[in-house]
Amino acid sequence: MTKNANFFLSLQQGIQSSLSKPCIDGPDFPVLSYSELADLTAQAANLLKSLGVKAGARVLVQTQKTPLGIAFYLACLRSGAIYVPLNIAYTADELDYFIEDTEPNLFVCDSTKRKTLEDLFSKHNIPTILEINSSGQGSLLDQLNAFPKQHEIVHVDADDIAVILYTSGTTGKPKGAMLSHDNLNSNAQSLYKIWDWQKDDVLIHALPIFHIHGLFVALHLSLLGGTSMLFLSRFDAGQITQLLPQASVLMGVPTFYTRLLQQDSLNSDLCKNMRLFVSGSAPLLEETSNFFAERSGHRILERYGMSETGMLMSNPLDGEKIPGTVGFALPDVSYRVCDDDGNTLSPGSIGTLHVKGPNIFQGYWRNPEKTKQEFKEGYFITGDLVNEDSDGRISIVGRNKDLIISGGYNVYPKEVELVMDEFEAISESAVIGVSHPDFGEAVVAVVVQSNLDQKLDEQEIINNLKNRLAAYKVPKKIFVKDELPRNTMGKVQKNLLRNEYDKLFK
Ligand code: AMP
Repeated sequence: MTKNANFFLSLQQGIQSSLSKPCIDGPDFPVLSYSELADLTAQAANLLKSLGVKAGARVLVQTQKTPLGIAFYLACLRSGAIYVPLNIAYTADELDYFIEDTEPNLFVCDSTKRKTLEDLFSKHNIPTILEINSSGQGSLLDQLNAFPKQHEIVHVDADDIAVILYTSGTTGKPKGAMLSHDNLNSNAQSLYKIWDWQKDDVLIHALPIFHIHGLFVALHLSLLGGTSMLFLSRFDAGQITQLLPQASVLMGVPTFYTRLLQQDSLNSDLCKNMRLFVSGSAPLLEETSNFFAERSGHRILERYGMSETGMLMSNPLDGEKIPGTVGFALPDVSYRVCDDDGNTLSPGSIGTLHVKGPNIFQGYWRNPEKTKQEFKEGYFITGDLVNEDSDGRISIVGRNKDLIISGGYNVYPKEVELVMDEFEAISESAVIGVSHPDFGEAVVAVVVQSNLDQKLDEQEIINNLKNRLAAYKVPKKIFVKDELPRNTMGKVQKNLLRNEYDKLFK
């Protein structure tokens, strides 16, 4: 029999080394020690077993951020079940697709959402539904008490799937990126080394835990080290400035840093115990990086990665962190920069980044065709346009044009356009991203109305969209035009629209 490659075995070493230490601390939740976390993960894994959730079964989770949510994630790893985290903002319409695509054995939902999802649950006949309270307290926790605190970690192979992360697709429907136990393990170990994680690090964890940044990067490193997290239910700049003196690491999206800069109290004295500020998931403006360095005395370390790959590039911990670049490839990541036909370009040219390494995902869930399209000669085609300098430093200079990143969340215009075009009042729509001082980019729609004699009610459309799409995907503004600008091939010229509305939020 092959060696058990369950990623939980690695995390367990960190957990066991710190049993008496707080794993979760901070103002939002009761303190949870590593010993309590160890017990909870075993109890939750035993609960999963009692429910017949076996290795390979899908567990869909859409809850607020709670410590119990972490215990459930770890319980899925221990059980060899596939954990599928979903953004809490997804509406019932969106969930319908995820349930159909994954055919889950178990759905873990937020207790406040249970009622609104009841129809969906019965439509799909999901075997079991569990509820987690936003506070992480209550009935599920009581239920877990009845289960033993011993659980044998299920044997898995390195390539067995641990997590499916849904990423929105250019074709409109999100695709499930399958990450194996080894994908997660190799990436966590790599980052642990290059960021020189310290046994006494204290991380401010203010990111959501349905996305790689908060679920993998931030959580895995803390657990591997058995280090404490100031675990916050959401990002609040005022709260974070109060916690900075107790912390040594903060991980965030660029919006965190622009909002922290708006806090008068941010200064180098407040940050004197900090050793690492990390930014990623969206481009960090040079201006933000410079202002932040001036105010805090720390240069933010920018890193780059994606759901399909985990982390790929990082500025050096000790060497020079250059704003506007994402640094060097992680030690076990190899890459090439290619033209549109997949030919490798000479250094210095701008091209698409292709990557290879133990962290690269296993393919898209039940979508072998899409998987095939996105790989070439063993390399995954990221879709990001990069420039490599003579030292091997990478800068992201563009990306798959259509993608909008708003507040660190990806929005694929096609998905929003498909929903907007279903409205009777709209004959066609073009969704674009425009610069926004807080979100980096904001979603904006330009539409042509079906009936020219009837005035389109933009606010009503926005309100309706909020019932169909997660709030961060809903356009902040809708503009009506007689027609959309098109090129000779009939393609909508979104670049013209982006230019036209460029100053909208400035
Ligand atoms: P996600 O899968 O949600 O993490 O989104 C991945 C995408 O976010 C990448 O393909 C990039 O386009 C973008 N991204 C992530 N990190 C950075 C960064 N540091 N700078 C610029 N874009 C980034």
